[in-house]
Amino acid sequence: MTKYGLFSRGRDRQSSAPSGASSSAQTSSSAVARDPLQDPTKKYPKPPFSKQSQPWPGLAAKMKPRPDHGEKSYKGSGRLQGRKALVTGGDSGMGRAAAIAFAREGADVAINYLPDEDEDAREVIELIKAEGRVALAIPGDLREESFCERMVEEAVRGLGGLDILVNNAGRQQAAASILDISSEEFDATMKTNVYAPFWTIKAALPHLKPGSTIIGTTSEQAYDPSPDLYDYAQTKAAIMNYTKSLAKQLGPKGIRVNAVAPGPVWTPLQVSGGATQGKLEHFGGQTPLGRPGQPAELGSIYVQLATGDASFATGQIYGAAGGSGQP
Ligand code: NAD
Ligand code: MG
Repeated sequence: MTKYGLFSRGRDRQSSAPSGASSSAQTSSSAVARDPLQDPTKKYPKPPFSKQSQPWPGLAAKMKPRPDHGEKSYKGSGRLQGRKALVTGGDSGMGRAAAIAFAREGADVAINYLPDEDEDAREVIELIKAEGRVALAIPGDLREESFCERMVEEAVRGLGGLDILVNNAGRQQAAASILDISSEEFDATMKTNVYAPFWTIKAALPHLKPGSTIIGTTSEQAYDPSPDLYDYAQTKAAIMNYTKSLAKQLGPKGIRVNAVAPGPVWTPLQVSGGATQGKLEHFGGQTPLGRPGQPAELGSIYVQLATGDASFATGQIYGAAGGSGQP
């Protein structure tokens, strides 16, 4: 257990892994590999997972096993030095992995989350501060246009500008039938996943200088929707689509727009109504790697899309789905 009692990756697990390929890769006696060879099928927990359910929006702190967001493992190398990032849903899951990675790469980071997620958010704020970066907590509900505008203003004021915007927050509630989805629930999914990025991008745009980047989180669901994710999957298709439209609109202004399309990843979204108990037990088992992804495995993708190194990448959807799914 670490200070935060997080699921442990990094050295503890690497040293107990079978040596084989790893030791032969470390040919120089004095050189210690920074990233020793590791079998991705054995790197993280596999199904079956124990049944578990939390009230929405769920906490990473209460998941078994706890997800890895890169708390111990992500190592930065100054790739985002001095940048200013706002990450929605930055308390847990992919957003938390991105927030930690951004801070370790030298960025100041504001995170948005729901007030009920304060426990998770406080851990992220401490991790950002531990890197000597500015850490801003902006709790609030993205389903309100006025809050989206206020969030952007607070981020710009607190960070002294904005050049990376990650629209990552999302709502996913599985429903066996379209008949089980009320208009209110349908509206909540649309507001969170489609309207909030629209409002947030509109508020942020006047502050974004050439070189800035907008990153969304879409899903493999945009391409191959599950029968029980009728409302959610179509919002992910919308995110994929607006990413490509906005990239064309903002390219001439020097602002890049890209998105990440995860496959099954072990996050609170799945244990708070996103997946049925049956699905959860075998979660990720159908991928060629035989397990779900951990948020930590996607943090570097958000970094790559944000950094100036990727200056020709815009309108792109970057998949990370363990070998199946699209893109
Ligand atoms: P997560 O639960 O850790 O993150 C989702 C976050 O969205 C929450 O932490 C919450 O802060 C935020 N959120 C939801 N509704 C909100 C609202 N009304 N106002 C403010 N914040 C709100 O789960 P995650 O899986 O990391 O989700 C992040 C993104 O990844 C989502 O867009 C999700 O659709 C996408 N995604 C997840 C998976 C997966 O398997 N976990 C797969 C593909 C895509
Ligand atoms: Mg959360």
